[in-house]
Amino acid sequence: RKQRSAWSVFDETQQIEQNSQKTLRYRSELTDALREHQFKLYYQPKVDLQTGRIISTEALARWHHPEDGVVPPIMFISIIEQSGKIREFGRYVIKTSIRQLSFWKSKGIAVPIAVNLSPYNLLDPDIVTFTQDLLKKYDIEPKLLEIELTETATSLHLQTISKSLNAFKEIGVQLSIDDFGTGMSSLAYISSLHVDTIKIDRAFVRDMDENERHLSIVQTALNLAKAFDCTVVAEGVENVTQANLLAALGCHYGQGYYYSRPIPEEQFTAMLQFSPTL
Ligand code: C2E
Ligand code: CA
Ligand code: CA
Ligand code: CA
Repeated sequence: RKQRSAWSVFDETQQIEQNSQKTLRYRSELTDALREHQFKLYYQPKVDLQTGRIISTEALARWHHPEDGVVPPIMFISIIEQSGKIREFGRYVIKTSIRQLSFWKSKGIAVPIAVNLSPYNLLDPDIVTFTQDLLKKYDIEPKLLEIELTETATSLHLQTISKSLNAFKEIGVQLSIDDFGTGMSSLAYISSLHVDTIKIDRAFVRDMDENERHLSIVQTALNLAKAFDCTVVAEGVENVTQANLLAALGCHYGQGYYYSRPIPEEQFTAMLQFSPTL
């Protein structure tokens, strides 16, 4: 193994130090950031692999930080989860998305939005009525809203989470299992809940052409989807080769930089107006 120089060790230590200082700073800035709406939703299209049409979109959070610029979610979601503000944040994301749907509706656009919820959000007993009230208030069809659920390493109370997910299903909201293939509980969810969509994690899409095991996971997702009557979205589609292979395997939908990066609201709305949708 390559010997690391004293410098690189020093560099690394400094990096860790800087990051933990950043974590502390971010934690102390959260309240203001939420109040001042510094968190924005960026949108990335989900595309029909055959036709290239936009069939849906995923809302991905970004922090427009006054000093640090655009901060990605890996830098702040776990801080929010640990700070006790994840409930407020989850509700903010849902509200922002429903208002976005309402804005699009006023322009004659009906593209569903998928939001990412932390499993902690599903422990919030009122999250479903909160959502239902907003859908009513803005007169939005519930099927235009989709919940993307990622399993966390810490296995939270599956029963409580399932209860909320079932309640979301009952009011007509769609349900997606995110990052299929990376965790232990997706199978439990898929077999016990009415899941509408399985999203294959991009780690498997990336090298499925040369990694047989990863190709098997992609195929497993497609088989499960057939058995449980749900759709599959392949994440992280970065080139035409991947898009073609996925389509050949019978995967209908894809998402990734090949089609578009996640982009700010105004840009995405412009894209919707100039590209064919559903
Ligand atoms: P995710 O839900 O799995 O989202 C997909 C991630 O892959 C996004 O990263 C997206 O920008 C990225 N991505 C999309 N296409 C490609 C591609 O072709 N190549 C590569 N290399 N990457 C691609 P992002 O936006 O940094 O989000 C990271 C994670 O943060 C998300 O993973 C999600 O788990 C979490 N997250 C994002 N927004 C929210 C939110 O509003 N609430 C919660 N609780 N979590 C969120
Ligand atoms: Ca997601
Ligand atoms: Ca994902
Ligand atoms: Ca992920």
